[in-house]
Amino acid sequence: MLVFAKIKSVQQKIKSLKKGTTIGFVPTMGALHKGHLSLIEQAKKENDVVVVSIFVNPTQFDKKEDLINYPKTIDTDLSLLKSVFCDIVFTPTAEEIYSNNIQSQSFSFDGLEHQMEGKFRDGHFNGVGTIVKRLFEIVTPHKSYFGEKDFQQLQIIRTMVKKHQMPLKVIGCDIYREDDGLAMSSRNARLTKEHRKIAPFIYKTLKQAKIEFGTKNALEVVNWVEQEFDKQPLLELEYFEIADEDTLLTIENKNPKQKYRAFIAVFADKIRLIDNISL
Ligand code: AMP
Repeated sequence: MLVFAKIKSVQQKIKSLKKGTTIGFVPTMGALHKGHLSLIEQAKKENDVVVVSIFVNPTQFDKKEDLINYPKTIDTDLSLLKSVFCDIVFTPTAEEIYSNNIQSQSFSFDGLEHQMEGKFRDGHFNGVGTIVKRLFEIVTPHKSYFGEKDFQQLQIIRTMVKKHQMPLKVIGCDIYREDDGLAMSSRNARLTKEHRKIAPFIYKTLKQAKIEFGTKNALEVVNWVEQEFDKQPLLELEYFEIADEDTLLTIENKNPKQKYRAFIAVFADKIRLIDNISL
């Protein structure tokens, strides 16, 4: 496994690959867990060479303290990447990526950026767009892999690739969960014992909401979920929405031809957890 911190070196390596070699790319912010590894394993199956980036992107954090507190576990990350036979790791510094101008580009993602996470995390998706576009330009992948865990991000990247006519395929990967259903996240390790114990309630409620959606309309399901969380003093619901998978707009009436998804964000003390389910 080769590890590069400099843009020039990783580009040189990629340019030296035999013509026709397919490159799968998995961008991450490190603090890797089995969810990340599942993306890498899928990329391994579908490409000749897999590149993983580890970069805690400053421009996608709306709160400075979240950026400062983001877990950094580079040694463990590198051993995990070796264990799944990752070929190339790119670990740039912020200076390498942004020089001395740590700022986002401004994007339009056809309104996707104003829904859900966009309402609560100012500038977040401009930061995501900026870094992912930059990484795509450096790594030049044929396919890039993103988790459905961050479904809104996945749809935004798909929109960016289409709008900017970038020559790669964006692959969405299933959400990887703990045995008790909690979606894997680097934030889970920061939960208190009490909050970790109750956190699977989020996915349990999503699964029940899916069943409820079979017979109830969206507003009734939203009300039901809100009532469920009212009974749960350790978890604070930030939002629960049922939205169209493509536009991410909340639905008013069900159309059997449309695909819907339920999205949720919950605070477990100060730790913000997100999840979603296809309906
Ligand atoms: P992050 O390091 O949190 O930016 O995540 C890097 C990539 O891993 C993103 O595409 C995430 O959606 C994906 N990811 C994070 N957690 C999971 C999970 N539990 N299951 C599947 N993909 C995930």
